[in-house]
Amino acid sequence: MGVTTTLLPRSISLLPIPNPQRPNLRLASPLCSSSKPSNNGASPPPNKNSTRSTSTSTKRRRRGSYGGSRRSVIKKSFTQEQVTFTTSLSDDPVVGIIGGGVSGLVCAATLEERGVRSTVFDTGMHGLGGRMATRVIHPQPLVFDHAAQFFTCTDKRFQKLVDRWLEKGLVREWKGKIGQLEAGGKFTPILDPEPRYVGVNGMRFLADSILDQSKMIDIVRPCWISKIEPFNGMWYLSEKEQLHGQFDAIVIAHNGKCANRLLSSSGLPLLTRQMKRLELSAIWALLAAFNDPLPLQRNMDFEGAFVKGVESLSWMGNNSSKLQLKSGTPHCWTFFSTSAYGKRNKVPQENIPNVTAEKVKEEMLQGAELALGLPKGGLQQPLYTRVQLWGAALPKNTPSVPCIFDPLGRAGICGDWLLGSSVESAALSGMAFANHIADYFENGGSNPNQFAIGLEETFQEVHGHDIGQFPGMNSQKADVDESQMVLTS
Ligand SMILES: Cc1cc2nc3c(=O)[nH]c(=O)nc-3n(C[C@H](O)[C@H](O)[C@H](O)COP(=O)(O)OP(=O)(O)OC[C@H]3O[C@@H](n4cnc5c(N)ncnc54)[C@H](O)[C@@H]3O)c2cc1C
Repeated sequence: MGVTTTLLPRSISLLPIPNPQRPNLRLASPLCSSSKPSNNGASPPPNKNSTRSTSTSTKRRRRGSYGGSRRSVIKKSFTQEQVTFTTSLSDDPVVGIIGGGVSGLVCAATLEERGVRSTVFDTGMHGLGGRMATRVIHPQPLVFDHAAQFFTCTDKRFQKLVDRWLEKGLVREWKGKIGQLEAGGKFTPILDPEPRYVGVNGMRFLADSILDQSKMIDIVRPCWISKIEPFNGMWYLSEKEQLHGQFDAIVIAHNGKCANRLLSSSGLPLLTRQMKRLELSAIWALLAAFNDPLPLQRNMDFEGAFVKGVESLSWMGNNSSKLQLKSGTPHCWTFFSTSAYGKRNKVPQENIPNVTAEKVKEEMLQGAELALGLPKGGLQQPLYTRVQLWGAALPKNTPSVPCIFDPLGRAGICGDWLLGSSVESAALSGMAFANHIADYFENGGSNPNQFAIGLEETFQEVHGHDIGQFPGMNSQKADVDESQMVLTS
């Protein structure tokens, strides 16, 4: 990958680091102390006491009627005021993308293909990718994909993208045996007609490389955009009080509480309403490394299994074989709970009490014993463990639209939940938003109503496994009533 990232202690203030390979990459310190907005040539932050123009580039910013007073151009709608931009669009509009998961990254890449510049903001301390996450523990190293495990591909547009990733050596087919494992150790292989894909060195490294060769995209991370404000026909994005740029349009490429908070006072009631309709599951992840291979029964030499009938477990996957880690190193497994278990054991994910972490670890390891048909204590003690709660793991419902766009507020949403719950649905949503807004820009922002999408749709239930959907794969969600599950607590 052509991007090197260095994290500095919080006490060190950091200016944007020029990267010889990626001149357009900017890193923010954990406090996001970069000294100027990411949008080169951007003007000063909106100052409520000031009515002066916010742009220095007359070429890029045509003045419109959206002047110093926001009140003059907003009208009441629902409980929030709707912001309505009346300025003409810039000649060279820039999009602010809040979220560097696969949807935000594919959105940025597609915008570039359409000749539109963008900046991606992401909270990731270790890298981009969001729920395409890989954790590397040094010095061994131990490597775990700790959310998305693999993905499938049914859509031609996504396949084209995946083919490019294959050519660049970022992904490869995962041919390891996977199947369904019933409590007690009954394993049934899933025979796939379609390929399964994994990031060559883990999902995060795929995400980190997606924008490697981009010329029109800025990346700012780690950065937690905490405020979006409309002013003078532009969106101003900031983290705490630190301004991070001004944008002609923005897209929220994440979900959950954080997105609700960001939207709640933004002047985008229609986006807020759709985001609030979204329901999310919670899933516990247990990363565990073992000195010896797990004692799988004969003919059960699987690399991944959807677990059926055990409440504390819905998936177990062997990263060491999947990622072809060096032999002789510890065996790194990722275990996921069911969403029922996640709900029953939900705590604040950023502040997991030790007692909960210990309980969940024990119960998930017991779940693995049950699933594999081992006697109590039959599973070796792991040499390394870590539990993590994905508090906003997967969408439980979807409006089934490729993206959402409010043309009056020049803001939208992309993400997996708009189409389903998979890497494929997230990528397709990012692509769709980019094409939609590029069309809107090409149209000069006129006939805004023609570009409204996804603002009214009602939601349906998402069907799939507890860890998401795998379009095209011959497998059913473990169809077990909660009352039939073996509980480990
Ligand atoms: C446990 C688990 C297992 C899964 N397994 C699979 C699988 O095997 N196969 C599969 O296809 N799918 C799987 N999925 C689903 C898949 O990971 C997601 O559908 C997909 O990665 C979602 O991408 P996204 O871009 O929509 O959102 P995300 O990946 O969630 O990206 C959103 C990004 O926005 C960032 N962000 C949030 N708020 C802000 C802010 N205010 N400022 C800046 N950045 C912000 C977040 O940090 C994050 O990086 C799994 C998910 C989970 C949780």
